Amino acid sequence: MLACHCWVVLLMKFLSPIFVSLCLSLTGIHATVADATTGPQIEGAWEQGSILRGQVEPGSQLRFEGHDVPVSPKGQFVIGLDRDFGSVARLTLRREDGTTQAFEYPVQKREYQIQRVEGVPARTVNPSAEHLARIRAESALTRKARAKILDRQDFAETFVWPLTGPITGVYGSQRYYNGEPRRPHYGVDVARPTGTVVVAPASGVVTLVHPDMFYSGGTLIVDHGQGLSSTFIHLHKVLVEEGQEVKQGEPIAEVGASGRATGPHLDWRMNWFDQRVDPQVLVPPMNTVWSKAKE
Ligand SMILES: [Zn+2]
Repeated sequence: MLACHCWVVLLMKFLSPIFVSLCLSLTGIHATVADATTGPQIEGAWEQGSILRGQVEPGSQLRFEGHDVPVSPKGQFVIGLDRDFGSVARLTLRREDGTTQAFEYPVQKREYQIQRVEGVPARTVNPSAEHLARIRAESALTRKARAKILDRQDFAETFVWPLTGPITGVYGSQRYYNGEPRRPHYGVDVARPTGTVVVAPASGVVTLVHPDMFYSGGTLIVDHGQGLSSTFIHLHKVLVEEGQEVKQGEPIAEVGASGRATGPHLDWRMNWFDQRVDPQVLVPPMNTVWSKAKE
């Protein structure tokens, strides 16, 4: 077995210079075909909270606002704009032949709602010192999960709603809890009874399962690859395990009212690394889906 493995290694060492020179000549041809005017092909709106998916020539590198953007071997990529993104987005493309080109996109500003939430437990509005320590430890766990770079292209799928029902909260709204201003709301809330099954909006890998976080209660993160992830919170039950692969449409959790919640609902959030983006960008309007589901 070992001998066999060594043979493979030797063979690869012998073949690799040939392979590399073949690749170089191929890319040389490629570079002349696609001249310097070929920019990234991008699908999505340049507006705050948006998720944009695109394609560059394989082998290209991308920088977005000073950060490296993961690019798949086939040239696919995804980027996200947070809630308060500035008026211009800057993308730099470096091709395999070493040429670089900078692109600027004007970013549309969004108007966000103001939402007042009454009747949440007082301890979740003004947490004690002990609770603050717990909150910090829990947010370190979610940060770590969202910082992962998985070479998967599930983000390119056509997303579906993880749950259909009345929308009771949207992305970006400024929130007042029991009358006190707090951080904006970053997810889309869908109200359904406790125990209703939530499905994966796209395929991915489970990168975090937590039974009861202070704010978010039962929490689940599914990574769709290259920095794009879904977070599901206030869950009653999580039906999958960390490290597990899930397919789009597969049951992953049950609706609950855990954490800072006033009643059972699913709060679905999306991130591109630490940028909080709007999940509704990737799914059709709920009205149609929900009325169809009732028929
Ligand atoms: Zn919510």
